[in-house]
Amino acid sequence: MFDSQTGGHVGVADDPDVAGRPLATGVPGVYLFPGSFETIIGLLRQGIAAMAADEPVRRLHIPPVISRRVIEHAGYVKTFPHLLGTVHSYTGDSCGWQALAELVDEGGDWHAQQRISDLVLLPAACYPVYETLTDQALDGPRKFAVEGNCFRQEATSEIGRLRSFRMVELVTAATADYCLQWRAHWLERVSGWLRSLGLHVDVEVADDPFFGPGKKLFQAAQRMQELKLELRVPVADGVVQAVASANYHKDHFGETFRFSCDGEVGNTSCMAFGLERIALALINAHGPDSGSWPDGVLAALGGGHD
Ligand code: AMP
Ligand code: ZN
Repeated sequence: MFDSQTGGHVGVADDPDVAGRPLATGVPGVYLFPGSFETIIGLLRQGIAAMAADEPVRRLHIPPVISRRVIEHAGYVKTFPHLLGTVHSYTGDSCGWQALAELVDEGGDWHAQQRISDLVLLPAACYPVYETLTDQALDGPRKFAVEGNCFRQEATSEIGRLRSFRMVELVTAATADYCLQWRAHWLERVSGWLRSLGLHVDVEVADDPFFGPGKKLFQAAQRMQELKLELRVPVADGVVQAVASANYHKDHFGETFRFSCDGEVGNTSCMAFGLERIALALINAHGPDSGSWPDGVLAALGGGHD
């Protein structure tokens, strides 16, 4: 792991005990993942898919970028500007670049003329789904299973807090009643699943890391309405992280993207899984070699290795 205090790498490569763990790079919160870690990620995908086998989901793989307009429109820019990664590129001519190019080797300000593009980095896997429902009148729940590589410009880099990480989400768009029941069902199901993986789970009412003067108000309103519930488990000695969250957005996305369900403004809920965090929690509990994990744990991951 990268030690944010010293800015150095802490004995990752040489210690056989941590051989299966993510490898630190020169930048905090960005890791390289060895094969044995990816085997665990594959098992998690399999376990989540097995849990969702009885849901008629549309499966979508989400790219690591999303339309900037969609993210602006969805309210993310105003509430989480500190986490959003923007995509910029050089749009000047080759003459203008000559002088700037010389600055690259000196670590100078070669990027002074970079302009923001029509893309931003994906902050959560469910965002692109809501736009696909634009102007639709749904005659029943619509369900999706998505996975994407997400980016968040996190300020700290303790264990389990990455800047680039993978998120699987189950998403539903339906009526308010349906979305609330669906979320309660999935919260129950996922806590049971995490326990069957041998993990100690706490379910807590939570809030998102809003930014700016409205922060306290947004967080209090979110907590009061219990819009976000987190499943928190130990990912290392003394470190507990949310490995999954069950969210209810009320009619926020239905209003934003003008979709309805059974005659009312569309409501949405999502069940989000952080793959790296669950993998770290499993390694913490059972060791990095998934081949030697207890049978019950492997059974809860869809019956074994793929
Ligand atoms: P959230 O949208 O913040 O509820 O995130 C959904 C899930 O993604 C969380 O429960 C975590 O498991 C995972 N996640 C969120 N932020 C990070 C991060 N910085 N590093 C690793 N996983 C994360
Ligand atoms: Zn979501």
